[in-house]
Amino acid sequence: MEYKIGLIRGDGIGPEIVNEAKKVLDAVCAKYGHAFCYRDMLLGGASIDANGVPLTEETIREAKACDAVLMGSIGGDANTSPWYKLEPSKRPEAGLLGIRKALNLFANVRPAYLYEELKEACPLRDEVIGRGFDMVIMRELTGGLYFGERKTYEENGLRTAVDTLVYNENEIRRIARRAFDIARKRRKKVTSVDKANVLDSSRLWRAVVEEVAEEYPDVALEHMLVDNCAMQLVKDPGQFDVILTENMFGDILSDEASMVTGSIGMLSSASLNETSFGLYEPSHGSAPDIAGQNIANPLATILSAAMLLRYSLNLDKEADAVEAAVKAVLKEGYRTGDIMSEGCRKVSTTEMGSLVASKI
Ligand code: NAD
Repeated sequence: MEYKIGLIRGDGIGPEIVNEAKKVLDAVCAKYGHAFCYRDMLLGGASIDANGVPLTEETIREAKACDAVLMGSIGGDANTSPWYKLEPSKRPEAGLLGIRKALNLFANVRPAYLYEELKEACPLRDEVIGRGFDMVIMRELTGGLYFGERKTYEENGLRTAVDTLVYNENEIRRIARRAFDIARKRRKKVTSVDKANVLDSSRLWRAVVEEVAEEYPDVALEHMLVDNCAMQLVKDPGQFDVILTENMFGDILSDEASMVTGSIGMLSSASLNETSFGLYEPSHGSAPDIAGQNIANPLATILSAAMLLRYSLNLDKEADAVEAAVKAVLKEGYRTGDIMSEGCRKVSTTEMGSLVASKI
């Protein structure tokens, strides 16, 4: 099959890690007989340098014409980069928020997986880790507290601020369906996280998620309060398959789950809309401190490419092959500097990409 894939190389280590992910996608094409037609597009700092703004209409138009977009990461060093002398709406990050909005990417998917070979990086004790963990956090990305009305004012001489947490049933239903769809491709369990003992928005969340669950009788649903979930993530992370939650709870819980894996260079992510389109990127930033040195870990981006194959192109077998190739390379003891441990062999960004590609 022929597919159109957008590439946003981005800033800092972005171009280096995207090149390696492309190498792996090319190996997938060769092995499985697909044709990937790549379109380069600019976002963030690279777009500021070329066009004066972090996101152009052209990038939005081109992204919309693609089946999926793979991104490195954007942004520079906030203390030294001239991009951060610009007003906030013209800085690199505004480009990312802008493209998410323009493409209506309301579902953020972040896996947290513990590789047996990287167990040492996990801050939890062996008896807590047990047989490891493999979960996905599905976070609502365009509603809730971060997008509700807010204001700061003075009342009776006291400075006062208010933020509003709003969700309507359609916003909840569409993200819940996404979570159940993904659970169907995994171990068929959804844990919906809310604060239904206190918040009305959470009570509606719970009611709508239960309605959606009726469409998925093969997927088990449980509800968990957010405070309990924060504890369970460090007490028994192996119990989770898909965690479904609203924007702010997801913001916090997905970072907690990432830290439990201990390896920032390994964490992929996807932002999806109502179609099969998705924007795929590593969870880490553009690491300007190590840019251009051929030492960055490309695996989070390569694993993001595996998500792209699975969720946007529906190529499960090919996605499995990429994930298996990453595991095989780790098993053979190859490591970039950030995940290096005793007895392993240190490799560069390009060597790591080639090793994974060779195992497809
Ligand atoms: P960062 O994730 O870029 O770096 C944090 C630390 O982790 C650094 O020491 C870095 O060298 C290391 N690191 C990160 N990715 C690595 C990799 N693949 N291999 C090896 N080491 C890696 O976070 P930061 O320094 O806070 O942010 C740098 C820039 O990235 C900022 O401009 C920030 O706004 C941006 N950022 C962008 C995104 C995105 O594009 N979605 C996300 C987070 C941060």
